Amino acid sequence: MNSGTATRYGVWKIQPDPDGLDEYVVVCVSEAENGTVCGLDSGSGDMAAFVEWARRHRWTHPDHRTYRLVADVQMVMVPEVEPL
Ligand SMILES: [Zn+2]
Repeated sequence: MNSGTATRYGVWKIQPDPDGLDEYVVVCVSEAENGTVCGLDSGSGDMAAFVEWARRHRWTHPDHRTYRLVADVQMVMVPEVEPL
């Protein structure tokens, strides 16, 4: 996959900022038999926090196995060749 974008200013790509403070929220979207969605979420935190939250949530709600991940990830544009 080519993630670069060629412009008259050169080839740039967007990538996660290694110095960014990423935050994630995982939302349980499992449905009860009557079709209602659980909707409980992990709250904002790092990746380890939402993984642990989902593990514990499924432990207390054995049928809740479907989740949606919302990621707030800082990105940065990087030139393929640094301008002089
Ligand atoms: Zn749930």
